[in-house]
Amino acid sequence: MPTASAQKPETNAQAEYAKRARGAYLGLAVGDALGATVEFLTPREIRCNFARQGGVHKEIAGGGWLHLRPGQVTDDTAMSLALGEAILANGGKVEALASALAFDRWMHAKPIDIGNTVRRNLIRFRQTGIPEAPESEHDAGNGAVMRLLPVALCTVGRGEAEIIAALKAQAHVTHNNPISDAGCLCLTRMLHLALRGGARAALEAEAMALESIRPEYAWSEAGRMRMRRRENPSAYVAHTLAAVFQAFFSTDGFESCLIDVVNRGGDADTTGAIAGALAGAWYGENQIPPRWKNALDKTIARRCEEQAEALGIRSQESENSRERRPEMNEKP
Ligand code: MG
Ligand code: MG
Repeated sequence: MPTASAQKPETNAQAEYAKRARGAYLGLAVGDALGATVEFLTPREIRCNFARQGGVHKEIAGGGWLHLRPGQVTDDTAMSLALGEAILANGGKVEALASALAFDRWMHAKPIDIGNTVRRNLIRFRQTGIPEAPESEHDAGNGAVMRLLPVALCTVGRGEAEIIAALKAQAHVTHNNPISDAGCLCLTRMLHLALRGGARAALEAEAMALESIRPEYAWSEAGRMRMRRRENPSAYVAHTLAAVFQAFFSTDGFESCLIDVVNRGGDADTTGAIAGALAGAWYGENQIPPRWKNALDKTIARRCEEQAEALGIRSQESENSRERRPEMNEKP
């Protein structure tokens, strides 16, 4: 029987985990809302457009090519929330058909933006009823990576095979591509480490392992291509994650990481969303600047908080109910 004092550290650990989970989900939405203002601009255009703010975009102000309201988010956050709802309605399980139906419902509601690969493969799903897109070398966009946070939140502590199956179930609805799969797995491992308060060096090792296995992802000084700063990142998942990793590992705070990544321009709402989730999990909710959190659309913020809690509870329940599996920290 555990004593009361033996239970206390577990309670503290759970509270710490909850802060990191909320940080990740709110960070995703904050990064999306911040980056959307400068999506598709080049760094030079951003410096010009924000000359009166010192040439740096750093406030959630809406606008951009989508003419957003301040605090409004885009497909990155909306698809994550749709996926998270499907997972929770499905008892915490990630299934291809439930994911496809959730994305299809979201598309029916005429979202303000939608990626070409997502649209094409959801139309294919409507026509065929098959929730898995055919494998395609052309479908290496960032659409599957940008929305994987709810899967990461509900698979903390699960075995490698189960994590990969869950990742593929949601990703392959629209992006059945091995480069995308590798990015999904790497980011999920990094999120799991961050959510559990893992060492920064451990996260960096995961990102470096990705570029050593998949040179497309070269992002670090040690990378095969000796990458320089990845500016104007495209929606190609390898370019998107390279910008995110460079921003995350070259800064020392949530705010500086997000300002760095969105001012690179390009697919800035998506780099912002992914960096926001990673930095939010790593630094925790308290490090998200209040001015950004307060600027977020209130309904979106509430849904992010609710899902972070519900998905986190699911993962902790499953983690507590099973013995630690030896393969948890192994590479495939
Ligand atoms: Mg978007
Ligand atoms: Mg985008």
